[in-house]
Amino acid sequence: MARILIVEDEPQIAFALESDLRLEGYDVEVAKDGETGAVRGREPGWDLILLDVMLPGKDGFDVCRELRKAGVEVPILFLTARTHETEKILGLDLGADDYITKPFSPRELRARIRARLRARPVVEPDELLRFGDVEVDLARAEVKRSGAAIDVTPMELKLLATLARNRGRVLSRDRLIDLVWGRDTYITERAVDQHVVNLRRKLGAAIISSIRGMGYRFDG
Ligand code: CA
Repeated sequence: MARILIVEDEPQIAFALESDLRLEGYDVEVAKDGETGAVRGREPGWDLILLDVMLPGKDGFDVCRELRKAGVEVPILFLTARTHETEKILGLDLGADDYITKPFSPRELRARIRARLRARPVVEPDELLRFGDVEVDLARAEVKRSGAAIDVTPMELKLLATLARNRGRVLSRDRLIDLVWGRDTYITERAVDQHVVNLRRKLGAAIISSIRGMGYRFDG
C-alpha cells in the first residue's frame, strides 16, 4: 500500500483529501504546518508527498527545498491556489515533480497521484538496469548494448544511473549537477548537456528526452 504524506493547514481540505485517498486504499497521514511537514517528510517510507504552498511559518517552497536538500527523493506534488505560485513552482528549481491548482477535482488529483506513483524509480536490488538493448551493471561499472561493451566515462555512468533511477521524472540541470557532480563542484549546465549528448550517442537517442525549459527525463 502506498503511503502518502499530506502537508496542509486548512482542516477541511486536509480532511477531504485524507478521506478520499484512504478510500482509494492509500495509507495517509497529515502534517498541519510546514515545520511538521519538513520533519515528517524526512521519515523513510513515504511514496508521495502532497505539499500545500501557503502554510503558516515555513511555506511549501521552503519545505520542498529542505527535503530535497536533505536527500529526500520522494515525489512531491504541490497543491497551489494561485497562478503566480504555479509560475514559481515551474520557475524555481525546487525539485517538485508536479503541481495541482486549487480548487481541484478529486478525480484529477487521484489521476496525478497514480501517475506519480507509476513513475517511481525502479531499481533492482543488484543495481542491474536494463532498457531496450542496453544493460548497465552498476556494481561492475559495465555498460553493454546488444551484448557488446560500451565505453562510458565514470561521470557518464553516474549520470545514466541517476537518470535511470528517476525514470519518468524530469530532472533539471541544476538537480542533476547536485546529484551527479555534487553541489560543491563547479560545472556548467552546458557540460551537463554534453554528457547527455554523449550518452545518447552511445546508447540511443530515445533513452533521454529533453523537456524544454525544465531538464531531462529518462525514458529508456
Ligand atoms: Ca494553506
